[in-house]
Amino acid sequence: MSEAHLPSTAIDPTKPSIARVYDASLGGKDNYEVDRQVWEQIKAAAPNQGAVSQMNRRWLVRVVRYLAEEVGIDQFLDLGSGLPTVENTHQVAQYHNPEARVVYVDIDPICNAHGRALLEENEYTHFVEADFTQPATVLEAPDVTRWLDFDRPMVLMQCGTLHHVPDEDDPAGLMRPYLDALPAGSFVAITHFWDPGEENAELHAFARNLEAGLMHLGSGWFRHRSEIAAMFGDLEMLPPGLTELEEWWPAGPPARELHPEQHLILGGVGRKR
Ligand code: SAM
Repeated sequence: MSEAHLPSTAIDPTKPSIARVYDASLGGKDNYEVDRQVWEQIKAAAPNQGAVSQMNRRWLVRVVRYLAEEVGIDQFLDLGSGLPTVENTHQVAQYHNPEARVVYVDIDPICNAHGRALLEENEYTHFVEADFTQPATVLEAPDVTRWLDFDRPMVLMQCGTLHHVPDEDDPAGLMRPYLDALPAGSFVAITHFWDPGEENAELHAFARNLEAGLMHLGSGWFRHRSEIAAMFGDLEMLPPGLTELEEWWPAGPPARELHPEQHLILGGVGRKR
């Protein structure tokens, strides 16, 4: 990945990190003053961005619950997993199947330090510190090959992550080795910031403004639907397809109108035939 946009790889309390700013956006406590300052700058452009983080987590929980409980998948490779907050992939999957295996991958050492401390006792959950833009490194990491069986279906997750990869690093292209490595019957779950372009001029202008605000963090690109769809390669999309997050099997009828920020992210789940 190009140096300019590479997330920090050492715990440096003087530089913001995506994982800690995301934690601040969820109301968490694992962040520093510099992260909270960046979060305030983002909120100046998008006052309801915190609702987007929460909505993204709710989507992740619904997807993992469905795939673990209804489909019976018991292996999860969660790329850019972030700080372990509440209702993580392993908690949701292991609630249904205590032996479901989860490997978390994040480039930010704070995620791995916290995760390992929290989950010392959990033999089915593991942390790998790696850059997911280097698929070969991730796919060959000892804790990936030891804990995940690439002869049986699994779930690969890229939630709120690929929009931190700049165009020059080809986010759809970097997904190809992952898609090739997955066995048939596997699933890929992606959420990604969305610029509706000509579909909605007002939201398009808002997305451009918000993207400028996110540059305080160093990355966060809003892409067109076709660009996000390309990240799934030729996977078969589960219904309802690539949609706004609250339209993907919501937990119930909407209790209130969405904030404009909440329209600017799409999610979908694809299945490898
Ligand atoms: N996936 C979680 C979720 O949806 O709630 C967390 C999303 S958080 C917005 C994005 C995470 O991706 C951060 O923890 C960040 O450190 C991680 N990340 C960003 N670029 C990465 C890279 N190149 N390799 C590994 N992790 C990365």
